[in-house]
Amino acid sequence: MNDTSYRSSLTGSSLRDEPKRVSLVVPVYNESANLSALIAAVSAAMGLCAYELILVDDGSTDGTAEGIATHAQADGRIIGLCLSRNFGHQYALSAGLKYATGDVVVMMDGDLQHPPSLVPDMIRLWREGYNIVQGRRVDTEGISSRRQFFSRMYYGVFRFLCGISLDEGESDFRLLDRSIVEEINKMQEGQLFLRGLIAWMGYRRAKVDYVAPARFAGKSKYNLRKMLRLARSGILSFSTAPMRLGIVAGLCMSALSFLELIYVLIARICGATVPGWASTMVLLSLVFGVMFLLMGLQGEYLLRIYERVQRRPAFLVERVIGKNKNANISTDPKES
Ligand code: UDP
Ligand code: MG
Repeated sequence: MNDTSYRSSLTGSSLRDEPKRVSLVVPVYNESANLSALIAAVSAAMGLCAYELILVDDGSTDGTAEGIATHAQADGRIIGLCLSRNFGHQYALSAGLKYATGDVVVMMDGDLQHPPSLVPDMIRLWREGYNIVQGRRVDTEGISSRRQFFSRMYYGVFRFLCGISLDEGESDFRLLDRSIVEEINKMQEGQLFLRGLIAWMGYRRAKVDYVAPARFAGKSKYNLRKMLRLARSGILSFSTAPMRLGIVAGLCMSALSFLELIYVLIARICGATVPGWASTMVLLSLVFGVMFLLMGLQGEYLLRIYERVQRRPAFLVERVIGKNKNANISTDPKES
């Protein structure tokens, strides 16, 4: 771990006592093969510290819920939150945040790519006064160079368009103080992009670098479609620059037409004939292409308003496994 370069003036004696309870929120989608290893790793990392492990089953079909139930019978610290279908990683995290009761909440993946052994270091930084301790992945074992390239490019574009300082590799492995969790639970985000949201929030934060090992078992649950959806919702939730693209496109089009006009006039003066249909076709297809692109982009923003007006809950909880069965989770942004 290397967190020193990110720490501000808060170093010094501990400002906080040990947390009374740590909530670990782990979304799991078809991760039955990882459950035992994950639970063992969390237990080893947490030692005597009081914690609850909230496994959010995001509509798994491979017996993950049954696996959670078996573990919860043996270990009272394990809680299963079963969503009614697959709502996606971000919403599974959001469900876990609403349910967590700890004064410190740590979110991490269920495939052991976010090393549980770093949680005590995160807690130490929280005790020093940081409200957010963000995990930053500096490398991933076995990652393809193509995925790495696109990830680097995406973070660059995100920073440029959104003006939010989100470092490459800032993942959904982080510790949050209870006050931050309360803030997030109050928010009414349409399409969630937690890492952008948390980077946007500010507050006192430290970063913990880590190398992500390869997945313990199974395959990535992020297919290309899910990855693109997350990338799109990240940019569209934090930037209105694509909406303004119309102005830039309009200006470019006007400049092009003006240049063409000059070209036609000069050709006429010089006595040359200008073939009309070719340039008309090029301009027409260019204009229509740009117009459809802009309409699509504006539609994306409209869609967000439409979703907000519908006020559908972001996720539905079908059942809760383990203790705290009666805890009241509101999935309605109005009540949260
Ligand atoms: N996940 C989820 N719902 C989904 C997709 C993923 O809850 O629709 C969980 C998954 O089980 C894992 C975490 O989100 O615990 C991160 O997913 P994954 O490891 O597949 O992503 P990758 O590391 O490949 O980006
Ligand atoms: Mg993973």
